[in-house]
Amino acid sequence: MANSVNVLDLVPADAERILGEYFASRGQPAYRARQVVHRLWKNPVRTFDEMTELPAGARSELAGHFSLPRLEIVERQRSVDGTQKFLFRLDDGQGIETVAIPEDDRVTLCISSQAGCALKCAFCATGQMGFQRNLHPWEIAAQVREMRLIEDPLLVTNVVFMGMGEPMMNWQAVDPALTILNSPDGLGIGARHITVSTVGVLPGIVALGKRPEQFRLAVSIHAPTDALRRQLMPINTKYPLADVLAAARAFDRRVTFEYVMLGGVNDQRTHALELAQLAKRCRAFVNLIPLHAGGGTEFQPTSPRDIARFARLVRGAGGGIEVAIRKSRGTDISAACGQLRVERLGRRPPQRADEHGHVHVV
Ligand code: SAH
Repeated sequence: MANSVNVLDLVPADAERILGEYFASRGQPAYRARQVVHRLWKNPVRTFDEMTELPAGARSELAGHFSLPRLEIVERQRSVDGTQKFLFRLDDGQGIETVAIPEDDRVTLCISSQAGCALKCAFCATGQMGFQRNLHPWEIAAQVREMRLIEDPLLVTNVVFMGMGEPMMNWQAVDPALTILNSPDGLGIGARHITVSTVGVLPGIVALGKRPEQFRLAVSIHAPTDALRRQLMPINTKYPLADVLAAARAFDRRVTFEYVMLGGVNDQRTHALELAQLAKRCRAFVNLIPLHAGGGTEFQPTSPRDIARFARLVRGAGGGIEVAIRKSRGTDISAACGQLRVERLGRRPPQRADEHGHVHVV
């Protein structure tokens, strides 16, 4: 039904209130609202009809008043290392990617917050395709929900906003999506297991810091000086390094610095020493990311040996900086963000980001 309320686009408390009013208005028991809410995220169903704890009549009436949309999986790929990559098609034909990375007893889901991205980081496949549109809250959270509905379901334990898009340019949807992901009546994923990754959009960092839950923040640094960072990340003109670092310092929880290793570009000894100083000032955890090649950019990955050397230099700078080298996963399925969509759906003309991409800070 075109004008029906999408129950997935509401945070669980609002869904329960609206469903409660709906059942009350038809003289049906109030506990039905809770029953339905539990079937949205925690123990999800594909259709209202699958909510078999409700009488058949109640189910079909629900379906007449509310919608329970799905994300359509158009492609599911499995890497030899267990990584799985999903391409979802949205109802307007847009494509987004989600990557599931199992490790030990965890499953980390790398989710998208926008279709495309406006920021044009030089090494990123998503940046190449430009901005298409912001995702709705439900489209963000449903990437996790769908993992519970597929064949061989995956129980996601950790979420990282490191798929397509810049989450802080879509804060108005990411904010309620975080509530759905974390709420015990939603997907129930602990806040410390949810990481929002940003290029350093300052109002978004402030807004995340104001949330009482312990959501984690990762900042894509990628260069220790403004001159180099501007070349790699055009957003550095709007949010220069000094401001990003000040925001990271002001964030009251531990921050991760992401640093993608680009051969001959940002991987020299001086870069390591400069990066170490920045990390020390922010007491940041440093994550060195091997470049996923492909996706139409010219950059070359730094060799594993040189990444290890770079890590030793950062660690050796003193101050107890912790450095990790991210394991590359799913390289055989082009699992870096944006790569699959570019291959499968081709390119679409980009949209102007500033129509929707602004950040509301409450
Ligand atoms: N816009 C946000 C989140 C999405 S990208 C951000 O930039 O932080 C998540 C991370 O993947 C970022 O650190 C990004 O720089 C990195 N990344 C993008 N393309 C990559 C590639 N080809 N190889 C390795 N990391 C990449």
